[in-house]
Amino acid sequence: MKSDKIILDGTRVANEIKEKLVGRVTSLSEKGITPCLATILVGDDPSSETYVRMKGNACKRLGIDSRRIHLPQETTTQNLITVIQQLNDDPTVHGILLQHPVPHQIDERAAFDTIAVEKDVDGVTTLGFAQNAFGFANYPSCTPAAIMAILDYYQIPIAGKHAVVVGRSPILGKPVSLMLLNRNATVTICHSKTEELHRIVRLGDIVVAAVGKPQFIKSDWIQAGAVVIDAGYNPGNVGDVDYEGCLQQAHAITPVPAGVGPVTIAMLLKHTVDAADRVLG
Ligand code: NAP
Repeated sequence: MKSDKIILDGTRVANEIKEKLVGRVTSLSEKGITPCLATILVGDDPSSETYVRMKGNACKRLGIDSRRIHLPQETTTQNLITVIQQLNDDPTVHGILLQHPVPHQIDERAAFDTIAVEKDVDGVTTLGFAQNAFGFANYPSCTPAAIMAILDYYQIPIAGKHAVVVGRSPILGKPVSLMLLNRNATVTICHSKTEELHRIVRLGDIVVAAVGKPQFIKSDWIQAGAVVIDAGYNPGNVGDVDYEGCLQQAHAITPVPAGVGPVTIAMLLKHTVDAADRVLG
């Protein structure tokens, strides 16, 4: 590996974000407020259970309360909406996270949009998404915010660069594309119907992989000197990028694990503390 290569160390970025929260949590607690994140898990998907547990543990380590609601697989949209409304009305809850995906019978959009925007710490509501698109969201989606935080921590230039985002999901591909656009990148968004994908990816100064397919982005798709951000997280701790191959081509690259993942969790904690702070006005 050449010495000018940068491994974008998510653990380091996450630690810096979390260190800044310690004092804020203490000062809120002196005012009688313990930031609280409610997580809702519907069904028994083992990966989702792991994510929710990791988020809960991260809260605990920082003195943030986490309230875990686990609903059965057969939960209806109306049941879920009722639970979310109760959390909206509960002044001791500052952030609400509905773990995606939910079982097929549930109208996920209706459920997400029930979350009060002031508690939407993962930017999943239609309003939160729109605020992010305009560039003034209090809480942009955590993974896109994590990607921007990594780029900023390592002072990767964004303005004027061609960013190619592979994936257009409402929680990841689309919002990160808008955030890059708002920072004056020229953005191309790719998806499953994109033709000649490898040729388009090769044009990227910054490539964001948000596909959900292990090692999908190959080394010969990457322009020499590009910055590669792998948001993917597949079973076996594998990203969406062929890391070893792309490492040879890239100037900078996020590993999996210890890349985007830990920063996503740190962002969730930060947004929860921000939401608790806003209660004080
Ligand atoms: P998703 O909702 O399944 O979206 C996947 C996107 O990839 C879709 O837009 C899809 O296109 C596109 N795609 C699928 N096959 C493709 C192909 N052959 N060529 C080009 N594009 C293709 O997934 P997601 O929720 O955005 O998650 C993406 C990845 O990020 C997953 O690995 C997930 O585990 C990971 N993730 C990580 C974190 C973290 O904290 N690190 C957080 C969230 C997600 P269409 O729109 O055309 O179907």
